[in-house]
Amino acid sequence: MALIVQKYGGTSVGNLERIKNVAAKVLKRQQAGDQVVVVVSAMAGETNKLIKLALELNELPDLREYDALISTGENVSCALMAIAIHSLGGKARSLCAYQVPIVTHGVYKDGRIKSIETRLIQKLLKQGNVVIVAGFQGVDEEGNIHTLGRGGSDTTAVALAAALKADLCEIYTDVDGIYTADPNICPNARKLEKISYDEVMELASLGAKVLMIRSVELAKNYNVKLAVLSSMVDLPGTLVIKGDKEMEKTVVSGVAYDKNECKVTVSRVPDQPGVAATLFKGLGESHIVVDMIVQNVSDQGYTDLTFTVRKEDLPRARKLAEEASRKLLAGEIRIDPNVAKVSVVGVGMRSAAGVAAKMFAALGRAGINIQAISTSEIKLSCLIDAKYTELAVRELHGAFELAKGPSALKPRKRARR
Ligand code: ADP
Ligand code: ASP
Ligand code: MG
Repeated sequence: MALIVQKYGGTSVGNLERIKNVAAKVLKRQQAGDQVVVVVSAMAGETNKLIKLALELNELPDLREYDALISTGENVSCALMAIAIHSLGGKARSLCAYQVPIVTHGVYKDGRIKSIETRLIQKLLKQGNVVIVAGFQGVDEEGNIHTLGRGGSDTTAVALAAALKADLCEIYTDVDGIYTADPNICPNARKLEKISYDEVMELASLGAKVLMIRSVELAKNYNVKLAVLSSMVDLPGTLVIKGDKEMEKTVVSGVAYDKNECKVTVSRVPDQPGVAATLFKGLGESHIVVDMIVQNVSDQGYTDLTFTVRKEDLPRARKLAEEASRKLLAGEIRIDPNVAKVSVVGVGMRSAAGVAAKMFAALGRAGINIQAISTSEIKLSCLIDAKYTELAVRELHGAFELAKGPSALKPRKRARR
């Protein structure tokens, strides 16, 4: 008998028909002899609706109440899933995070799981229940609800799998695995049979929302076996595992894009030591993640400082940039929300030359201007005009010949010592 944690995303529980299908699938697995813990997301679109309601009342809502509100979508799907299993004659119990409890700490909107009490879940499993847990939420020691960041039900599932020492964590979604690029915009994207934790973390951090980045970090740290599969069709999915030698031969394994960033420019900043610190200190203290940063060439002692933040952080980032600009006697703040980040990712990039040249040439051929660049050991990202996102992804996918398999660039031979 294996213990399996299964997570079903928003589309997979998007209406009652789909909830019934999932309920039947879960019961089949239980009847085959496994113990099953199910983590559910809110029904598709529900979290966005709740966010919109809050923001209509107040652009900067109190974050405690914001989290109390936006976590409720998961309560609905969690109880509905239990009802659906009961209607098929199965035994199931739904649990919200405070009932488990899943204890969080940290900030609102971005809570971190501190501990999970597994006794109740174990007891319910022993009694023959399917245990259904609301994803995306946790409760702090004072009883306040925290959410785990967008896409956070993936993190709930992996954290539960780690705490329960589950044999496998299955992430069921609306695609049948992890592809070389988003299959919804790149028709010849190729499904990967396996991919390393590190590569998925990069893909996720670069906008490929197929898995939330923290869920993969947790899976890597706690050695959770992770699979991504379709909730609609019965096909083998993608296994996320530790990188191996064979994988390192692949220079670029995927292309990702992110339309959730916007560009903020503080103009005419005095070009002096300490100015960047003044600006970014406030952003850091407000837990605003700054992604790309560009400082233009100094012109008569002044420079423009450009950075990108997530769209949902823009109102707060703008306010802080304005405060910093006043303090620094800098110029106006310019905002451009119509940008996108496209990236190529691969563990083999560590030891390969020519990836940047190939990427820039592909974007150039397509007439796409690069506004900012950032790099890490295993990824390369360019900020572009958002209207070219899909074109850029397809061009890069083609340039690195990802439809065919391992990319055409050869890893650089290591120099002899
Ligand atoms: P869920 O609601 O099940 O959590 P998400 O919408 O969060 O699902 O994630 C699944 C989506 O991720 C897919 O519909 C697809 O558009 C997108 N996606 C982006 N990049 C990739 C990729 N490389 N492979 C597979 N899916 C991807
Ligand atoms: N419902 C939450 C969201 O939309 C969490 C999740 O779907 O994983 O972000
Ligand atoms: Mg998701």
